[in-house]
Amino acid sequence: MFDSNDVKIAKLGEKVLRKKAKKVKDIKNEKTQEIIKIMIETLKKSNGVGLAAPQISISKQIMIISSRPNARYPNAPVMEDLVLINPKIIKTSKGKSKDWEGCLSIPGIRAKVPRYNKIVVSYKNIDNEKKTIVFKDFIARIFQHEFDHLIGLVYIDRVESNKDIISEEVYLKKFIGKPMSNIAKLAKILKEELIPELDENLEEIMNIIDSGDCSKDDRDELKYLEEMKAYFDEVELDIQNNNLSEEDALDILEVLEEMRLDKE
Ligand SMILES: [Zn+2]
Repeated sequence: MFDSNDVKIAKLGEKVLRKKAKKVKDIKNEKTQEIIKIMIETLKKSNGVGLAAPQISISKQIMIISSRPNARYPNAPVMEDLVLINPKIIKTSKGKSKDWEGCLSIPGIRAKVPRYNKIVVSYKNIDNEKKTIVFKDFIARIFQHEFDHLIGLVYIDRVESNKDIISEEVYLKKFIGKPMSNIAKLAKILKEELIPELDENLEEIMNIIDSGDCSKDDRDELKYLEEMKAYFDEVELDIQNNNLSEEDALDILEVLEEMRLDKE
């Protein structure tokens, strides 16, 4: 049929985004399965967390939720791709929360949108089986966003105030921040992982040695751990005193990564 390389995301202003999508009657039909395949490929390429068929100009009630951290949504939780066909909202929570959304069909902006915290949904899966599912929080938000695409709405229709709309560039700067520097990464790994782990191992080996029942290997291990500890302390001190360059930090991170792989 067609290739996901040829697929263009429909953008705001195109009629297909304002139409009510049609129910899919022939789920196991080859054409429907092809559409789903193309949607999954398109979503993977575009760093989105969800996609509705109208967004690839197909006015049918098909959506995909695919949450995992990526450049556009660094804090997204990880879940398996979920294809929902002919979805219906059965029940919603009373409570709503406002949080940021973006849309592949409306590039360049983000906005705060109120959505139900919890939602019960029925749908058909790709094998034409009827399913019921409960979505919460971020995943419930993705569902409601994609569901809107199936009824001719987009997320900015739900925004309470124009002041809740900001440019994507500002959003990324403000809320996601710059990528962490090597020095910051190293400091974090030392403090949160390596030093606590090392202290634990040291305590363990000290207990063995204190018990009097220790081998030469134990003593060698203790010596090795103490050397590591001294080295980590030195690196930490260098970080605190600004004596470490970004390049040095990267070198150390690479050595640590190799050691970690050796251990595994
Ligand atoms: Zn969207």
